[in-house]
Amino acid sequence: MKIIKTVSQMQELSLSWLKQGKSIGLIPTMGALHSGHFSLIKQSCKENNFSVLSLFVNPTQFGKGEDYKKYPRCLKKDKKLLEGKGIEIIFAPSTKEMYPQGCSTYIEVEKMSGALCGMFRPGHFRGVCTIVGKLFNVIKPTRAYFGQKDYQQFKIIEKMVNDLNFGVKTIMMPIIREKDGLAISSRNAYLSVKEREEAVVLVKALKKAEEMIKLKKKTNVQDMINQIKKIIQTRSKTKIDYIKICHPESLKEVAKIGNEVLVALAVWIGKTRLIDNILIKRKGVKIA
Ligand code: AMP
Repeated sequence: MKIIKTVSQMQELSLSWLKQGKSIGLIPTMGALHSGHFSLIKQSCKENNFSVLSLFVNPTQFGKGEDYKKYPRCLKKDKKLLEGKGIEIIFAPSTKEMYPQGCSTYIEVEKMSGALCGMFRPGHFRGVCTIVGKLFNVIKPTRAYFGQKDYQQFKIIEKMVNDLNFGVKTIMMPIIREKDGLAISSRNAYLSVKEREEAVVLVKALKKAEEMIKLKKKTNVQDMINQIKKIIQTRSKTKIDYIKICHPESLKEVAKIGNEVLVALAVWIGKTRLIDNILIKRKGVKIA
């Protein structure tokens, strides 16, 4: 396993692999690696000749007042954790390397980027698409791996790949959770002990939604949202950004529960904003 920090070195290596007819798997991350990341790594190593993990805290996807500065950065620890896991290259460029002075081109996927998190984090998905597009051009992956934890991000990237003919196969892996159900996230490290206890209410609320749909206890969308809201509001440190029931492809809010829906939420626990979601199928329920 080697660390590459420059675009030119990475491009050169990827081209040489492709010339040999080898496949390349890419796992884009912002580091502070955890078992959610490792499930993507495992899949990539299984399906490709070479796997590249990119590690870059991307400034363009953070808004004003967000946690760009305090986002955990621990390259040494991450490198140790990656040893023996099958990754060929850690691509860890500097900010200047990815955004040299004068850089002024961005990728924006319209409509979907304005839904859900897009309503609260304007410009976030523009930053995500731009960096993922750049990583695709630098690493030239055959396949790229993302987590359902960021479901909206995955759908937007899928659309970008399709609209801009990137020719990369995008793969979404299930959400990895803690024993008590909390979706694992690098941002969980910000939570105090009390907040960590309260955070489990997110998955509890999603499970309630699943139960309501599965048992057809409730079919009215607004009633369901109100029930989920009530559960979350039982915890003192929570502040809801959104709870939405959407079509899993268009991400548009649904008026009626169809065969498959996405229930997605973003909730502040103290000063930490957490997201979670569940895909629910009416016949046979699929939980991440
Ligand atoms: P991040 O480093 O937070 O930008 O995440 C990098 C990738 O890991 C993204 O595709 C995330 O969706 C994915 N990921 C993060 N947390 C989880 C999790 N708990 N389960 C599965 N995938 C995850």
